[in-house]
Amino acid sequence: MVSATTSTSLDDVTAEIVRQFDVSDASLRAISDKFVRLSRTGLELPDQAMTMIPTFVTEVPTGNEHGTFLAVDLGGTNFRVCSVRLNGDGTFNLLQAKSVIPKNLMVGNAVDLFSFLAGKVRDFISTHLDEHFSQSESHVLKLGFTFSFPINQTAINRGTLIRWTKGFDVQDAVGKDVCLLLQDQLDALNLRVHVAALVNDTVGTLMSRSYASPGQYPTLLGVIIGTGTNAAYTESLSEIKKLSTSSSSSFSSSSPSSIMVVNTEWGSFDNDLVVLPRTEYDEAVDLVTPNPGFQMFEKRVSGMFLGEILRTVLLHLNNTGLLFVGATSQELSTPWSLDTSVLSLIESDSSPELVSVKAMIETDLELSTTLSERLAIKRIVEAIGRRSAYLAGAAIAGVVLHTGVLDRLPYVDVGVDGSVFEFYPGYENLIRESLNAVLGADNEGKIRIGIAKDGSGVGAALCALVA
Ligand code: ADP
Ligand code: MG
Repeated sequence: MVSATTSTSLDDVTAEIVRQFDVSDASLRAISDKFVRLSRTGLELPDQAMTMIPTFVTEVPTGNEHGTFLAVDLGGTNFRVCSVRLNGDGTFNLLQAKSVIPKNLMVGNAVDLFSFLAGKVRDFISTHLDEHFSQSESHVLKLGFTFSFPINQTAINRGTLIRWTKGFDVQDAVGKDVCLLLQDQLDALNLRVHVAALVNDTVGTLMSRSYASPGQYPTLLGVIIGTGTNAAYTESLSEIKKLSTSSSSSFSSSSPSSIMVVNTEWGSFDNDLVVLPRTEYDEAVDLVTPNPGFQMFEKRVSGMFLGEILRTVLLHLNNTGLLFVGATSQELSTPWSLDTSVLSLIESDSSPELVSVKAMIETDLELSTTLSERLAIKRIVEAIGRRSAYLAGAAIAGVVLHTGVLDRLPYVDVGVDGSVFEFYPGYENLIRESLNAVLGADNEGKIRIGIAKDGSGVGAALCALVA
């Protein structure tokens, strides 16, 4: 009897939680509408939350680009160093080394962080590019620096850090030029490497997708859905009104180019939560981040947060006596203990008994489950994942509407990178449901979405080339 009552109320409460994570078609349209409005404001006025950062990248690749470049990527979970050889036919060869950023460096001081990064560049060169050192003293390798935090960029290789996101908090780097911070540490190691371009990962994604799939229809948008989420798109130069009024900018408006790539910083879309959904779980997660109240869109969409949202829901159900009845665990009560890959795994378990879910909860949370508990957890996971993809879709639709691209072109191409997009089961289809809700089926069918594999490395190389 008791268990029957318990499972009934777990079902009821689960249904209520799923409802809270639901985003209606009307809400998705309201989100896209506000996205269009904030895009315009961000292009006109400085210092907006959704910053609309001019990147000084004024052309997108054709696929014919040639040469060998270094690229480094600091953006979230890993630091990557790679060498990229562009073959000039849309293909490339890439060598890469990855390392995890030690937690203490993510919240320490700038010199420690950047000397760690420079040391990884030195290691990479000595392991993979020895021949470089046997070349003449004057040969300098160009490096594209993918740095995926909000930057006030003033030239292709100049930009000061506005604020950290995604768990980083190196205070003495804020307001400094991150290219110079890296160049100083590279110079200290006597490396013949020149930081030629500062690239946001979204810009790299846009560039590499343009390089790899040159076609009739240019790539409009590069999107990241990894540790964080953000996007960059191609804008008419004349629309970036704040560029002509900005005194810090060395960019001349008499440039022959008619476009510039804009980094939206959409992670901070609607920080005041006027149109974004909010649940008590979102509020709890926000409070354990170093930047409460900021990156509110990102905190509902990206990989850093989905696992923590799930943990928060499960902990709440446990505290109210509905889940893992009579048990609890250290893991369940430890913030950030669940990775977003756990949600992918739960989504992909279609066995009748949910055996993988069972094993996963036992391993990751050290808790045993009944089948009805596992079914409830799966429904909650689906709700969190669907909301993430729907919100991402509404923002993509917002860029499409803002640019009016479908009035000019029959198709539009979108490149996406990041583990959530790449590995979360059915994520692209969920994005498409959202595009459909906002733009209608006809227009949804005109949007091509494709992965931009190794986007940040290739994109940074392409930016170093045009620099
Ligand atoms: P970065 O953002 O550092 O460039 P990634 O694109 O790999 O790196 O994204 C890392 C994020 O993706 C992490 O937050 C991690 O939780 C999440 N992630 C990793 N694997 C998966 C997966 N299989 N399914 C969903 N999310 C994943
Ligand atoms: Mg990345």
